[in-house]
Amino acid sequence: MLTIGCHLSSANGFLHMGQEALSIDANTFAFFTRNPRGGKAKPIDEEDAAALRQLLEENQFGKLVAHAPYTLNPCSDKENVRAFAQICMKEDMVRMEYLPGNFYNFHPGSHVGQGAEKGIDMIVGLLNEITTPEQSTIVLLETMAGKGSEVGGRFEELRAIIDGVRFPQKLGVCMDTCHVSDAGYDIIGDLDGVLDEFDRIVGLEKLHALHINDSKNPPGSRKDRHAKIGEGELGTDAIAAFLNHPKLKGLPCILETPNELEGYAREIRLLRSRVDG
Ligand code: FE
Ligand code: FE
Ligand code: ZN
Repeated sequence: MLTIGCHLSSANGFLHMGQEALSIDANTFAFFTRNPRGGKAKPIDEEDAAALRQLLEENQFGKLVAHAPYTLNPCSDKENVRAFAQICMKEDMVRMEYLPGNFYNFHPGSHVGQGAEKGIDMIVGLLNEITTPEQSTIVLLETMAGKGSEVGGRFEELRAIIDGVRFPQKLGVCMDTCHVSDAGYDIIGDLDGVLDEFDRIVGLEKLHALHINDSKNPPGSRKDRHAKIGEGELGTDAIAAFLNHPKLKGLPCILETPNELEGYAREIRLLRSRVDG
């Protein structure tokens, strides 16, 4: 069965997200670990976390894919911005252990003109500060659109980050369909080729989750504007082919399309009907 869900708001707590997921026939979901713009996180309600753990188990959910605030920049040229990313992510690693064994996805960041190599060094430095061999959470680097000075638009950059860290077993990749297409990987015309390239450079065993979005822009545009499924340049057929690819089957899929809950429910229904087995 397809493991699919969407971004849900954590404003009403953990259990509420699980109930909302069930109401739209989702069996995974994503959530921001705190206000997506950064800032202080609410203290964890342990009972609420336990209630969600029980709901997930009883309903055979796949792994969840939490998302770090997207405004963090681990490779900023400003020391205080990098320090803030490190504090947030270190706290989030502790918080994630209340829902053990799930994924925590983040945007590697923008090097703001310092060069990708320097950016990669800074990202590696941050990951070495926040990960421990004991943690149950796997941290995921998101494939980026390559907008501006974003790091992570090329598979080689992700590989370099994984190669640099002390605990590579705690690190993986989340592939975003809008981002890889915008970055210039032809997942519409040559999905096999893209996945072969990913396998050669990063290794498919490192691919742990998928973000499923259509794109408002054509391949290679480096824009990063998500569209609803079937309303963008990828189209429903290419997205269904992506989900049906034998090398991607079974990975948790998260919709990050511009939708409210009802729209997500529709997309989940649509994609479930298009995926065999
Ligand atoms: Fe993201
Ligand atoms: Fe994404
Ligand atoms: Zn995006």
